[in-house]
Formats: sequence, structure tokens, C-alpha cells
Amino acid sequence: MGLPGAWLHPLLYIGGQFAEAETGRRYPVQNPANGEALGSAPDASADDVRRAIDAAYEAFPTWSRATALERSQALRRFYENMVSHREELAWMITSEEGKPLAEARGEAQIGAEYVAWYAEEARRVYGETVPGARPDQRILVIRQPVGVVGAITPWNFPVSMVTRKMAPALASGCTVVLKPAEHTPLSALALARLAEAAGLPAGVFNVVTAQDPVPVGRQLLDDPRVRKLSFTGSTTVGKYLMRESAAQVKKLSLELGGHAPTLVFADADLEQAVSGVIASKFRNAGQTCICLNRILVEESIAEPFSEKLTQAVARLKVGDGMESGVEVGPLINEEGLAKVAAQVEDAVARGAVVACGGQRLAQAHGNFFAPTVLLNVRPDMAIMREETFGPVAPITTFREEDEAIALANDTLYGLASYVFSRDVSRVLRVSERLEYGIVGVNDPIPTVVEAPFGGVKESGFGREGGHWGMDNFLEVKYISLRI
Ligand code: ADP
Repeated sequence: MGLPGAWLHPLLYIGGQFAEAETGRRYPVQNPANGEALGSAPDASADDVRRAIDAAYEAFPTWSRATALERSQALRRFYENMVSHREELAWMITSEEGKPLAEARGEAQIGAEYVAWYAEEARRVYGETVPGARPDQRILVIRQPVGVVGAITPWNFPVSMVTRKMAPALASGCTVVLKPAEHTPLSALALARLAEAAGLPAGVFNVVTAQDPVPVGRQLLDDPRVRKLSFTGSTTVGKYLMRESAAQVKKLSLELGGHAPTLVFADADLEQAVSGVIASKFRNAGQTCICLNRILVEESIAEPFSEKLTQAVARLKVGDGMESGVEVGPLINEEGLAKVAAQVEDAVARGAVVACGGQRLAQAHGNFFAPTVLLNVRPDMAIMREETFGPVAPITTFREEDEAIALANDTLYGLASYVFSRDVSRVLRVSERLEYGIVGVNDPIPTVVEAPFGGVKESGFGREGGHWGMDNFLEVKYISLRI
């Protein structure tokens, strides 16, 4: 399939118009599977962002006062447009992000489902009435859109991270300025095309792409008309945005890094645990914030578990995500590759044993790292503390449930965690004590549109998905009425 030329060399989307950046500058976008130029994107400046905020601010009064049904129907049309272009979206995702096409299809589908979900949720922004404190008092509690939203998204899910923010924002009556990741601007601007074709009113959804996120981010932070920032990305940038938002007490939701532990108990179904670990660890080549990062196995089954896992990991097919049968694609760039290699090196230097993989793959120009299993891993190794974002599965052991929970919670992060066990009492006991926003029990892929995705501790705050996703974009107001 060829991708439409307008998708490979797209324009900014501001106030319902497609246009070059004011400076006329563009920057190249690479395919991480071969290092070749895929297309180019406009390199927006702070001025372009200001124009996008102008457009979103101007569109807000009309959009926020449109009926819930009108907003719902507009989102529904956008959803249908996404579904009818699902295959092109999947190709776009694989081309600029690298994940295998089957995974990209899954992402395009769930990305569309977020829009369908929030098209429905738009009609359920219910208020409450509360008994007054005095005989002549009546209290009405209403929920209203926050205003203009700045959305900043990462490269690892170039479509679904966008819709998971913009759909609930628009459903709530907010208008949006989106700044997608510099590595994956094309998918975001393809979504802009589909939104425009669906008849979303001018200015309600704006997309500005830029090679350097700093000036764009600065404009979103400094402009008081942007009332809320919704960010998914690294903890470092999240902390920066939090500090800088303080100046205007901007509302924030942050979905940051993770360091997911996976607890495999002796009473687990071993086959299920092995295939679950592979599904969680090697999805998107390990580049998701909920990919498992540490495997904690009960000592009595450590040997058979590690053997089975190593055999299965050694069989994984690595390559260009466009090739059929490929299970693990490239990493996003050289920097990502170097970080993974450094973590493996550090672990080995401190006594870890490479059971399979362990090095970068010499494939022409692509950023490929061999799927890796590390044994004898200890808590002092960097891989046990820092997010890996790569296809490396480090295994360590435990003897007691309490020890497993203590090890699992011994991190600054708190996004996803996983438990493999067939003992229902244990599963509940452990789930309640894990300091994480998400616990996948015998379930390596817990993300669905219905559920509240998000973390605790340094993994951030705010939830995306389900009816909770609307809360990020709504303010509560009460009207006290004296009769
Ligand atoms: P990653 O390490 O996954 O690339 P980042 O946190 O650097 O994570 O990037 C996530 C998103 O945050 C991207 O859209 C990126 O452009 C954006 N970003 C990075 N630095 C800044 C900044 N100073 N201001 C605003 N956005 C930023």
C-alpha cells in the first residue's frame, strides 16, 4: 500500500486550515527500520503555536455551548473516518514508529475506539443536586469544560495517545492544541486530515509539529489562555512541566514513566506466565510505559520458568515491522538503542548472565536490539531502577510473598504491575498491596478504553480511559440558589 502524499509531507492544522509553518521550515522524518527518509513535517515555531491557541480560544465558546449531541455526533463521524482509514493509519504507524504491522493495526483500532467511547461519554456529563444547608437554599453542581487544552504526546503510540487525550477533551467541550512527539508527526497530522474531513468545526482541534519541543512547550506554558496541559512522556519532562505550570496554576495531568514488576508465583500456570511475559515485554520492542521491566519469580520455579522463557524469546522474529511474521521491530532511534545496550552492559558487569540476545543486531541501518533474557539480576543494577524501553527481560528471584511485594514496590514509579498466580486469595491480597495504578492479573495487556489508565508516585496523576478520562477536562462548579 502506498501512503497518500499529503500524509507523508503534511501541513500544520490550525483553525481548520492546513498550512506550512510561518517560517516555511520543515524537518525530515525517518523510518526507524531502515534509517531512510520517510517524509517531512512542518517545523512550527512559537508563533505558529500562538496562532493555534488563538484558534482554539476563539472556537471554545461555540464548541463548549454546542449541545452534547452535536459534539457526540462530530466525534462519531471522526471515529467512522478513522475506521475506514484504519489500514492507512496502521501503515503510517509502522512506517514512522517501527512496531510490527499487526500491532499497528491494533493501535489504530483502539485509537478509534477511544473516540467512539468519548462520543458516547459526551452525553453523560451529569451534574448533581445537593440538599441545601438552609431551608431556602438549593445547590446545583454542574461540570463545565476547563477551556483550551494543550496536549503533548509521545512517539510510542502515535495515534492512540493522541485520541486518548483529544477525544475526551472535545467530548467535554474543551478545544485542543496538540503537540505530538517530534519523531512521529505524520500520524498526528494524518489524524488532523481525518478530523477535518469528519467536519469537526474549525479551531476545535489544532496540530502543531516541531523538531524542537522546547519553544512550543514554552508557548503552551506561558499563554494564560491554555488552562490545562495533558502530558504523556518521560518523568523528567513531566516534572519540568509541573514546575513551570505552577506560575499560572495550570491544571495538569501527567502520565509518566513506569518500571513494571511482574510477580510470577509457583502456583501460576507456567505456560501462561511465559507467554504473558513475552506479550508484555516484547510488545512494541519493549517501548511502552507499561511494558514489564522486572521479572520476580518464586525461587522454586525459577529454573523451568527461565528455561522456557529463554527458548521462546530466542525464537522471536526481529525485523522491519512491514515484513510478515515479524514480532519485534526496531527501537525508535540510536539513543534508545544506546540506553538499552548500556543497561545490559551494566548488568553483566555486575554479575548478570545473558541467557539469550544481549547485543544490537547488525541489520542494515535499522535500530535493532536482539530480544534478551538476563539471569542473576540484582536490585543494584541500573536495569532494576531505570526504565529500559527495550526488548530486555531481567529475571530475579524471591522466596516469600512479602519479599516479592517489597521488591515490587521498591521503585519511584507506580504505573503498571503484573501478577501471575492461580490462587484467588493471593491475587487479591497482592493486588491490594502493590503501589501501582494498574495491576494485570494473568493479564499482560490490561489497556482497554473502558478502564482508568494512569499511575501513582512518580508515574504521575490523572486517569485516561473510561468515564474517568472526562474528569481531566471538566471543572466542578456549584450554584447556590436562595429561593
Ligand atoms: P521520550 O523520552 O519518550 O521521548 P519525552 O518526555 O522527551 O519522552 O517526550 C514526550 C513528549 O514531550 C514529546 O512530545 C516531546 O516532544 C515532548 N517534550 C519534550 N521536552 C519538552 C519540553 N521541554 N516542553 C514541552 N514538551 C516537551
